[in-house]
Amino acid sequence: ADYLARIERHDSALNSFITVTPEAALAAADAADQRLARGEGGPLTGIPIAHKDIFCTQGVRTSCASRMLDNFIAPYDATVVSRLNQAGAVSLGKTNMDEFAMGSSNETSWYGPVKNPWDTTRVPGGSSGGSAAAVAAGLCLAATGTDTGGSIRQPAAFCGITGIKPTYGRCSRWGMIAFASSLDQAGVLARSAADAAHVLQAMAGFDPNDSTCADEPVPDYATNLNDSPRGLRIGVPREFLSPELDSRIAAVIEQAIELLCQLGAERHDISLPNSALSVPAYYVVAPAECSSNLARFDGVRFGHRCADPIDLDDLYQRSRGEGFGTEVKRRIMIGTYVLSAGYYDAYYLKAQKIRRLIKEDFQRAFAEVDIILGPTAPTTAFALGAKTADPVAMYLNDIFTISTNLAGLPGMSVPVAPVAGLPVGLQLIGNYFAEARLLNVAHQLQ
Ligand code: GLN
Repeated sequence: ADYLARIERHDSALNSFITVTPEAALAAADAADQRLARGEGGPLTGIPIAHKDIFCTQGVRTSCASRMLDNFIAPYDATVVSRLNQAGAVSLGKTNMDEFAMGSSNETSWYGPVKNPWDTTRVPGGSSGGSAAAVAAGLCLAATGTDTGGSIRQPAAFCGITGIKPTYGRCSRWGMIAFASSLDQAGVLARSAADAAHVLQAMAGFDPNDSTCADEPVPDYATNLNDSPRGLRIGVPREFLSPELDSRIAAVIEQAIELLCQLGAERHDISLPNSALSVPAYYVVAPAECSSNLARFDGVRFGHRCADPIDLDDLYQRSRGEGFGTEVKRRIMIGTYVLSAGYYDAYYLKAQKIRRLIKEDFQRAFAEVDIILGPTAPTTAFALGAKTADPVAMYLNDIFTISTNLAGLPGMSVPVAPVAGLPVGLQLIGNYFAEARLLNVAHQLQ
């Protein structure tokens, strides 16, 4: 009830929730209290959380922040949602996001932008901007997010909280509305690595409903949090400390690395030579997959349907024309173009080859180091509206986060010292299924 009151009081200034579900939350909180009274509680029993509005929630609107799904009531729970319910977490509602998770500032939402709680004239980052702002403002203790090209890590950095995107396949994608299926991964936004460890514990693991979900045992993420970083080999890619990076951000990132070295870690300067190609490769692969995934929204079975269609083509064209926003349409058009017969080899196939090179860069690096550290984003949170007219400027904000998704590796963002009063995120990248190590190193910095 305290958290619902906080949402009531503060969310009109932030717009971090699309849907709040007070009755369901109070009923779940009562059930959690009874479990606790019987001594049957776990670490998440009664913990107030929120779900990004990309996760299907039974009986609750699941809009993906699109007019297309404004009227969509999901008939079932996503796997990560049902696992968190089973663990006793109490969902307060659904958080705002960029439409279909396409964006880096939460400004493409049909429900309007989210404001950064540190400075409401600035963006919270995206696409999981509502989840990040809600956690940062204390409207919930943790939230789910998805990360296709940085959408957990970059908003976590901009809002001064901790975010983890696990290895591709660590969490089930079942019931998570697809954007780019080979890149999409569910994860957690929380106030600390320790909190994130408990939430991820409940979410992760094999699910027969998702054929890309990994059948790998899930370690206990909370047990190694206090391990010393003595002997840890830290790789610092020279491409991540590039001249495009704000020098004040570079300085606080260096300070955090120095702190780990004082605790016994060793620094190795490494190179990920194909990093500069990650943005162009991603912005071919992701739109290609999006154009295919979003073909299902045709106004026939669910979602927005235009009024009085005169024939089937008119139904498709007007339903999609009215239902999707500008950025989603741009992605569908780019994706359709790069997959078309005449351009497939030149764009899509080329991007897939670059994706392989990026993955190989990381494999070479992880032969020498245990973890890779660098900035999460090249700037702190920028002003609302600053990049909306220039999609390429917006895409370039993803420069440090996207290569991890192309390689399928786990990544994390943790807050370090602020710059000019705004939060800065340190990015941690691990080898496949090294989430426990990321959480451990992050915990050492908190
Ligand atoms: N900003 C990136 C994009 O617009 C990443 C989004 C995401 O990770 N969902 O595609």
